Amino acid sequence: MSTYIAPIRDMQFVLNEVAGLEEICALPGNEECSVDLVESILDEAAKFATGVLDPINRVGDRVGHVCKDGVVTTAEGFKEAYQLFVETGWNAMPFSPEYGGQGLPAVVSMAVNEMWKGANMAFGLCPMLTGGAIEAIAHHASEELKQKYLPKMVEGVWTGTMNLTEPNAGSDLAAISSKAKPVGDGSYLVSGTKIFITWGEHDVAENIIHLVLARLPDAPPGLKGISLFLVPKFLVNDDGSLGKRNDLICASIEHKLGIHGSPTAVMSYGENEGAVGYLIGEENKGVGYMFTMMNHARVNVGLEGVGIAERAYQHALWYARERVQGKIVGDKSNDKKTILHHPDVRRLLMDCKSRTEAMRTLAYYAAAQIDRAHAGDAAAQARIDLLTPVVKGWSTEQGVELTSNALQVFGGVGFVEETGAGQYYRDSRITTIYEGTTAIQANDLVGRKLAREKVPGAAMKALIAEMTADAETFAGNAQLASIAVNLKNGINSLSTASDWILANYESAPADVHAGSVPFLKLTGIVVGGWLMAKSAAIAVKRLAEGSSDDFYQAKLATASYFAAHQLPFAAAYAAEMTGGAASVFGLPENLF
Ligand SMILES: Cc1cc2nc3c(=O)[nH]c(=O)nc-3n(C[C@H](O)[C@H](O)[C@H](O)COP(=O)(O)OP(=O)(O)OC[C@H]3O[C@@H](n4cnc5c(N)ncnc54)[C@H](O)[C@@H]3O)c2cc1C
Repeated sequence: MSTYIAPIRDMQFVLNEVAGLEEICALPGNEECSVDLVESILDEAAKFATGVLDPINRVGDRVGHVCKDGVVTTAEGFKEAYQLFVETGWNAMPFSPEYGGQGLPAVVSMAVNEMWKGANMAFGLCPMLTGGAIEAIAHHASEELKQKYLPKMVEGVWTGTMNLTEPNAGSDLAAISSKAKPVGDGSYLVSGTKIFITWGEHDVAENIIHLVLARLPDAPPGLKGISLFLVPKFLVNDDGSLGKRNDLICASIEHKLGIHGSPTAVMSYGENEGAVGYLIGEENKGVGYMFTMMNHARVNVGLEGVGIAERAYQHALWYARERVQGKIVGDKSNDKKTILHHPDVRRLLMDCKSRTEAMRTLAYYAAAQIDRAHAGDAAAQARIDLLTPVVKGWSTEQGVELTSNALQVFGGVGFVEETGAGQYYRDSRITTIYEGTTAIQANDLVGRKLAREKVPGAAMKALIAEMTADAETFAGNAQLASIAVNLKNGINSLSTASDWILANYESAPADVHAGSVPFLKLTGIVVGGWLMAKSAAIAVKRLAEGSSDDFYQAKLATASYFAAHQLPFAAAYAAEMTGGAASVFGLPENLF
C-alpha cells in the first residue's frame, strides 16, 4: 500500500521558477515571507500530510461519520487530527495578522493546501470552507462581527460553512427561499432548510459559523433580494465565551459516492423561535458577498483536482512497479517484467504525471495572480477573474479522468475497494459538481469573463497576446521547437473560438452555451500547455547552465508529452464548439 508523499520538488519548482515566489514575497504586506521560510513550511506541511492526514484517509472513506439525533461524530482520528492541525497553526497560515493569522501569500497556501487535498481530501474540505467564510467576513462584515468571530475562526477553533443550496435552489441561486426577519436589536431570525452543507455539523471544533443566504421580508425577487447572514451554532457572548445553542439543527447527513470523511448536512434553521443571525454588509447584496467566498472556494476546489490526481498517480505508480504481468512487446528476453514496461501503462502514468503538473502550474500561477492583485495590480486581477472558472472547471474534469486512468493501471483490483484506488475516483467525482458545476463555470467563462466583460474579450486577448509572444520565443530554441508548434496551433484554436463567441454571444446564445464546456476545456489545455512550455524553457535553460538535476530532464519530458498528447485536443474542442454546436439541438425533445 502506498503512502501519499508531497511532491515537494515540483511544488518548489512551480513556486520559485514559474510563479515568481521571490517577487511575491517582496510585495507590500508580504514582508514576513521568504523563499527559505517557504521551503521549511513545505517540509513541515509534508510531514503533517503524510504523518497525520494520510493515515486517517482510509478510515474516513470506509467507516465515515455517524449522525444521531442531530449530533455528528466524525470518523476515528479526525477530531484529534483537526486539533493538531489547529495547534500547529496550519489553519491560520494565509490570514491577516490583524486577526491572528500568519499573513502568508496565497501562492504559499496553494502548495500547502494541495498537500491536505492529496493526503485526505475529505479532511481538507473543513479548513477550506472555514477559509472561504473568513474571506467573506473579512471583506464585507462590520468591524464588530470581525472582532467577535474572526480570531477564533482564523485560529481554527471555530469552523465555517457556506449555506447556499436549498432543495429548489442549486445552480440557480435566484430561487433561494430561506427567510430572515429583523428583530429590532440589530439581529435577525433566520429560517429555512439548506441542503448539502459541507462540514455543516461535526465534533471537531467548539463552534460552527454558518454563512447563510436568505431573503428579508419585502426583498425584491431574484438575485437582488438575497442577503447574507452569519448564524453561529452557539451564540457568542460579548466576552467571546459561548452562550446558548442557536435554533438550528443538522436534520440528517447524506450518504454519498465519495468524500465519506466529510459530513454533508441537511441544515434546518429556525424550527422553533428562529435562528439568531447577523447581517453581513448591506441588505440584498448577499450574493455578491458570497462570491468572495465562492471565488476562494472555486480555486481551491480546482486544487482538489490536482491533489487527488497526484495521489492517485502515486498509488498507481507504486502498483505498476510491483505488478508482474504479461510479456512486454518487443522484449526478446524471457525475463518477467513489471507492468510499468508495457507501453500503454507507461502512457497512462505519463498522462497522469504530465497533466497533473500542468494543473498544478495553472493553480499556483492563478494564486500568484491573486497575490499580485492584492498588491494593486489590475492586470493580475483581470487574469485571475478570467482563470478562476478554468482552474475550477478544467482541473476538476481532469481530476476525474486522471483518477480513472490511475485506477486502470491496477486492472481488476482497481475496481475492488481494498486497493484504495477506487476511493480517489469516487472522491474526485464531486469536484465537478459542487461550487458550481462545470457547466456553471463554463457559463461564467463565456459570459461574464469574455463576452460580457467591460471591454468584451479584453482579458482573453491579453492572455493570448502574452502566450503568442512566448510561443515565438520558444520556436527559436531547437529543444523547444516542436512544443512551440503545438502551442501555436493551440493558441490559434483558442483565438478562433474566442472570436466566434464574441461574434455569436448576443445573436445565438444557445449555440455558444452548447459549446461552452468544450471551450472551457480548450482554454485549460492551452493555458496549461503554455505554462508547461514555460516550464520546459526554464528546464532547458537550467540544463544549458550545467545543472545535473534530473528533475529538469523529467520536466522537459512531461512538457513535451503535454504538447504532443494534450495540445492537439485544442483544435478538436474549437471545431466542436464553432462547427458543431447546432447539432446539439439536432434532436427534437420528443425524439430523445
Ligand atoms: C457533497 C456535496 C457537498 C456540497 N457542499 C455544499 C456546501 O457546502 N454549500 C452549499 O451551499 N452547497 C453545497 N453543495 C451543493 C452543490 O453546490 C450543488 O449540488 C451544485 O451547485 C449543483 O446544484 P444542484 O445539485 O441543485 O443541481 P442542478 O442545479 O439541478 O443541476 C443539474 C444539472 O443541470 C445543469 N444546469 C443547471 N443550471 C444550468 C445552467 N444555467 N446552465 C447549464 N447547465 C445547468 C447542471 O450543470 C447539472 O448538470 C454540495 C453538494 C454536494 C453533493
